Amino acid sequence: MTTPATPRKAPPLDCAPSQIGPCAHCQQPCRRYGVGARTLCDSCWADVEARRTKAT
Ligand SMILES: [Zn+2]
Repeated sequence: MTTPATPRKAPPLDCAPSQIGPCAHCQQPCRRYGVGARTLCDSCWADVEARRTKAT
């Protein structure tokens, strides 16, 4: 098995390590579990939000 590439920059995660999981899109560490959890990291989430805003 190859070691996953190290994220270029770690997002500021102020939550427990057990709440951290890979982004569903880019696999960067993000808050996947617990309060305020998302399946996407901030950048991917922003992208989704932008598309949603544009959608009619
Ligand atoms: Zn992402």
